[in-house]
Amino acid sequence: MNGPARPQRALVTGASRGIGAAIAVRLAQDGCEVAVHYARSESGAKEIAAACSRLGVRALTVKADLTSAQQVEHMRRELERLDFLPDILVNNAGAASYGLVADLEESEWERVASLNLKGVYLCSRAFMTHMMWQRSGRIVNISSVWGIVGAAGEAAYSAAKGGVNAFTLALAKELAPFGVTVNAVAPGAVDTGMTAQLDMGEREELRREIPAGRLARPEEIAAVVRFLAHPAASYITGQIVSVSGGWMC
Ligand code: NAP
Repeated sequence: MNGPARPQRALVTGASRGIGAAIAVRLAQDGCEVAVHYARSESGAKEIAAACSRLGVRALTVKADLTSAQQVEHMRRELERLDFLPDILVNNAGAASYGLVADLEESEWERVASLNLKGVYLCSRAFMTHMMWQRSGRIVNISSVWGIVGAAGEAAYSAAKGGVNAFTLALAKELAPFGVTVNAVAPGAVDTGMTAQLDMGEREELRREIPAGRLARPEEIAAVVRFLAHPAASYITGQIVSVSGGWMC
C-alpha cells in the first residue's frame, strides 16, 4: 500500500532576496520543502528559510557560487547528504550588467555569461539525473524579456538570457521522455534590488512604456513559476512565458 505522497522538494537559486525569495515563499505556501540558495547574502537567505519554516515546511539554506562547477557539485553533494535532492529546480540567480558593447570588457562579458547562462547549465546538469531516475521533475529557468527582444546597453545580459531561453528549449526536448519539464519565465521589469539601481527619472520613463503602467511585484513572477512547477503542469514543456505587463510583447 502506498503511504501519503511526500512533499515536493524545491531548490531555488538566488533566493536570498528579490524574485528568488518570493518564489521560495510561494512554493512553501503550497507545502513544498525549500532549499534557499545564496552566494553572499547569508542573513537574507536565513530570513527567507525561516519565513518558509513558519509556513510549516522543511527549509534550509545552501551556499554556492554558481559560476563554479566545483561549488555546484559541492552543493549537490550537500543536498544529497541531507536527503534533499530537488524535484523542482528554479534557476533564478542572475545579475544584470550595463554598458555599450563598444566599452564592454571581455572579463565583464565572461562574468555575465558565467552567472546567467553557465550557472543554469551547471545546476541543471547537477540535479536533472535524480529527476530522470524518478521519472518526474520540474526545471524552471528565469530569463528575461531582454533575452527575446534584446536591450541596447545590456548586450551581454541579453545574450546570456537569450542563451537561457535556447537552453530551455533544447533541454526540454532531452528531458521530456523522462517526465521532466523544462520551461522559462521571462520577466519584464520587476521591483527588486536589480531595478532599484534605476534613478527616479528612469523608473518613471520605464513605467510609461509598460502597458500595465507599473513594474511587476516579485510575487507575480513567483505565481507563474509555481504554476509551471506544479505536478498538474505535466504536459507544458519547452515554453518561454513572458510576464511583463504587456511590455515588449
Ligand atoms: P536580485 O534581487 O539582484 O537577486 C539576485 C540573486 O542572485 C541574489 O539572491 C544573489 O545571491 C544571486 N546571485 C548573484 N550572483 C551570484 C553568484 N555568482 N552565484 C550565485 N548566486 C548569485 O535580482 P532579481 O531582480 O530578484 O532577479 C532574479 C532573476 O530574475 C535574475 O535571473 C534576473 O536576471 C531575472 N530578471 C529580473 C528582472 C528585474 O527587473 N528585477 C527582470 C527580468 C529578469 P546573493 O545575494 O547571495 O549574492
